Amino acid sequence: MITFTEVADRVFVAVELVVNVNVTLVNGDGRAMLVDTLSHDGQARELLTAIRSVTPAPLIVVNTHHHYDHAFGNAVVAAGTGGGEPPQDAPVWAHEEAAALLRDKGTVLQRQWYEEILAQDLEFADALGLCVIRPPDSIVHDEVSLDVGGRPVTLRHLGRGHTAGDLIVEVPDADLVVAGDLVEEGAPPGFSDAYPMAWPDTLAGLVARLGPQTKVVPGHGAVVSPEFVRAQHDELSKLSWLIREAHGDGGDPLKVAARSSLTRFGERGVKEARLAVLRGYEELEQP
Ligand SMILES: [Zn+2]
Repeated sequence: MITFTEVADRVFVAVELVVNVNVTLVNGDGRAMLVDTLSHDGQARELLTAIRSVTPAPLIVVNTHHHYDHAFGNAVVAAGTGGGEPPQDAPVWAHEEAAALLRDKGTVLQRQWYEEILAQDLEFADALGLCVIRPPDSIVHDEVSLDVGGRPVTLRHLGRGHTAGDLIVEVPDADLVVAGDLVEEGAPPGFSDAYPMAWPDTLAGLVARLGPQTKVVPGHGAVVSPEFVRAQHDELSKLSWLIREAHGDGGDPLKVAARSSLTRFGERGVKEARLAVLRGYEELEQP
């Protein structure tokens, strides 16, 4: 069951428990914004029911990035086909890179993720593999300011990081920022298609936009403070320096990964650190 909890003035967060992903609902006057849409049609229908327990307002949908757990519920949520309500056709916003990936490579990615998840969770993999992908239709290049029922909200791209097309969502009247997977709490950051050499600068850009009390909703895990984001910036900076140094010496990725502080997350941390090294080497080798 998906349930929203108010974490700041009329800003609600719900946690999906399979991959522990956060979705955020910004409730305005007669209009609401949903940030991220979960992994498949079934989850999105549950999500719509949870939204309708908070507000009947038409939705503006945002994907923080193109990964399935943030974007594969788009079709159901945008069409409003969850709780017997009249159909709608909500706009779906994303960064241009995320939108292009979902539009041009969506079904290839869907197949790839289906195969990755199959061994761990057959039911989840099937649901993900069968869902209809709805690519975003409303595009952010650098930033877009929107009115969500009288509340100003800004969608902003700060540079490459967790993916090529991450967005943050700023809700200034609630002193809150939704960071997507640029920030991870309780788990290592994900590097499968990340830019580990660019990510620290992107996080520095995020830190610079936070006030002393700003609440930051990470892609996964508990709502965090600016100090947490600063600490994650420092950790990813150290990792990028480790990668740069090791690249010069032709270091074996697994051995380099073993020297990263992400190993504190156990096996998953080592796996992500190794991916970070491989991705970082690619980034350094690009002209
Ligand atoms: Zn992600």
